[in-house]
Amino acid sequence: MLALQGAVDLHKPHIEACGAEYAAVKTAKDFGGVDALILPGGESTTMLKLIERFELWDALTEQFATKPVWGICAGSILMAEKVTNPEQKSFGVLPITIQRNGYGRQLESHHAQINDYEVSFIRAPLVTDSADNVEVLAEYDGAPVWLQKGSKIVSTFHPELTKDYPSPMHKHFIDLVNKSA
Ligand code: GLN
Repeated sequence: MLALQGAVDLHKPHIEACGAEYAAVKTAKDFGGVDALILPGGESTTMLKLIERFELWDALTEQFATKPVWGICAGSILMAEKVTNPEQKSFGVLPITIQRNGYGRQLESHHAQINDYEVSFIRAPLVTDSADNVEVLAEYDGAPVWLQKGSKIVSTFHPELTKDYPSPMHKHFIDLVNKSA
């Protein structure tokens, strides 16, 4: 788990319920000790500021190139190729365009069932475009909300708030990590 900011600890029981080991990582040195990374939900602008302040850009780029990565909400914004509303810097790990706060201000947060599991959209971004080689794992309200290309995954919703362990999304990611190991 990238632990600079956001909803970090809530992932621990989900990851452990999959039989995997949880670690909160913050420095380039820590990154070396993990097989995969989850970028949590939170506030993408704050995360970007912290990444720049701690000079983690290059180390993260290398992690993204070599390991399975799952970006959740703000994490999915960091992984997108293009960010709108407003435009901001991102790592371009997945060829998708994502609109920040794409469900409108009136929708601070709402719940939905994805793969029979309750998930939360919290000031969620909206995927407005994705390349043909990106697989859509789930849609909600006519838009893709869970997408994958190779070992890189994004979800615009939070599955970790539901206390029914593990979520199908954690299971999917850990299976992928085990296969890639
Ligand atoms: N709206 C936030 C952003 O733009 C994302 C919200 C979330 O991660 N739950 O970074």
